[in-house]
Amino acid sequence: MTVVPLDPASPASHAVGIDFDQTLVAHDDGWQDGRIYGRPIPGAIESLLELKKVRSVFVVTARPRGHHPEVAAWLRRHTGLETLVDDDPDRAYWQGDCLLVTNKKLGAAVYIDDRALRFTGDWTTTLAEAHHAIGLRPDAAATARDPRRQGL
Ligand SMILES: [Mg+2]
Repeated sequence: MTVVPLDPASPASHAVGIDFDQTLVAHDDGWQDGRIYGRPIPGAIESLLELKKVRSVFVVTARPRGHHPEVAAWLRRHTGLETLVDDDPDRAYWQGDCLLVTNKKLGAAVYIDDRALRFTGDWTTTLAEAHHAIGLRPDAAATARDPRRQGL
């Protein structure tokens, strides 16, 4: 694991990024047209607050911008923290006392995300893990990529 200690010269080192859906908020009854109805995943709020003591924290969502105020309201309700919906198209980093809600992949010391693979410099392993994550067997993935093998 890459360790990114706090470094005044590195704005990314000042922040932790946390995914929203299925990382902070549970979807026990499915997507529900995007309505944010879920409870916090056990330990999520306590962990976010612990990280907030030592770094700036932003919450990342792929939801359309129209959902961001609702994401921010859920975060305020469950954390008691102030929130800010990101409206700066040029923002690359976050350093602030409140929780930023954004749909951008800002620079960060670390991301916490239910859909991520950690890349460690080995694409052979990463590709196999990616194939597994999208439900392909390694041999099926090779066939899918190479049309010459599809008849085999
Ligand atoms: Mg997620």
